[in-house]
Amino acid sequence: MRDSLPKHAPFVQFPIRNDCLYIGGVALTRLAQRVGTTPFYAYDRQKITERIALLRRHLPPEILLHYAMKANPMPAVVQHLAGLVDGMDVASVGEMKIALDTILPPGSISFAGPGKKMHELSSAIAAGVVLNVESAQELELIAQTGESLGITPKVAIRVNPDFELRSSGMKMGGGSKPFGVDAERVPDMLMRLGAMGLDFVGFHIFSGSQNLNAAAIGEAHAKTFELAVRVAEHAPSAVRLLNIGGGFGVPYFPGNQALDLPAIGENLQRLMPEVKRQLPDTRIAIELGRYMVAEAGIYVCRILERKLSREQVFLVTDGGLHHHLAASGNFGQVVRKNYPVIIGNKVQSAEKEIVSIVGPLCTPLDILAEQMQITKASVGDLVVVLQSGAYGLTASPTAFLNHPVPMEVLV
Ligand SMILES: *Cc1c(COP(=O)(O)O)cnc(C)c1O
Repeated sequence: MRDSLPKHAPFVQFPIRNDCLYIGGVALTRLAQRVGTTPFYAYDRQKITERIALLRRHLPPEILLHYAMKANPMPAVVQHLAGLVDGMDVASVGEMKIALDTILPPGSISFAGPGKKMHELSSAIAAGVVLNVESAQELELIAQTGESLGITPKVAIRVNPDFELRSSGMKMGGGSKPFGVDAERVPDMLMRLGAMGLDFVGFHIFSGSQNLNAAAIGEAHAKTFELAVRVAEHAPSAVRLLNIGGGFGVPYFPGNQALDLPAIGENLQRLMPEVKRQLPDTRIAIELGRYMVAEAGIYVCRILERKLSREQVFLVTDGGLHHHLAASGNFGQVVRKNYPVIIGNKVQSAEKEIVSIVGPLCTPLDILAEQMQITKASVGDLVVVLQSGAYGLTASPTAFLNHPVPMEVLV
């Protein structure tokens, strides 16, 4: 079973024929002709399907899978995922609109994020979406808004846990955080919520993101269940849904190992009987963004120039930081590391060289690969950044320097 897990090595993820990368069954050179312009993002539909199947195979069958849309909100990707997952988590009204356009029932969509405004709340309440409450002030605003609409809002409390997720790329819970209600304040809030007559759905406990350590995730799962049982004692009605977050990471950088998903599944399987005993009416959901889509996506740009500067080769491309901030190293990385990058139309050619691949922006931050060993490439060749299906286009400053926005295709 473990052998079926995807490896970090970029060359096993997508097939290569005649030295050319294939995505969605199409040769990259042909896809570039079809798209008509570079740069572009391409997402492989089948890879997304396989990833959800992998999750279902390893996680306990009763666990619901939710897609956290901010990882990749391209409508075609979201529509495809809607047929595969049990719910979606959105963090804005814009994302909510995309989720509501799918076949998913509104009650399976949850809306998280601090600073929700009255018009956003009223739209979500009218839609029948579950609001993940981030603060006491927000709870009051939700109750008022529901009252003025004449609709009972569905609410879950987002709990800021009293523990941290070890070795996480981004910590989103534990300690002082702008997200969620501190665990120790939750009992009071539940009392208030009960008095308001809101439709209480359950809890949302999200502790971190981009974690490749199965043991750390397992510990967080155990602590999350323990915390949920503690706060559930104060709930005004049965806890119907417990969203235990996600945080499953993907390997981006040299030395990263793919997450040990079977170990996470086995740990959850071990925890489930006790959870079911303590919370018999509760469905458990896991919400994942990047784990569902990151490895299914590539970013493609074209080499415009080979430039030699004092012995160093620079491949200047038409793509860069403005389209793919994360690959440039400026999206939360402390030390810049290279994403996996290949020459998509010359994947396996024997002749290699060490190059830096840069974009057209007039800033030294515009780097796609720094001092990387890669197939020797020439003007017109296609540079491919792998692991680019999440936090790509919509996490990038596309207005910076005012170049055209790249296309996105689901193949
Ligand atoms: C961003 C976010 C996610 C998705 O994180 P990934 O690392 O992409 O899995 C999930 N839940 C919440 C609440 C988030 O803010």
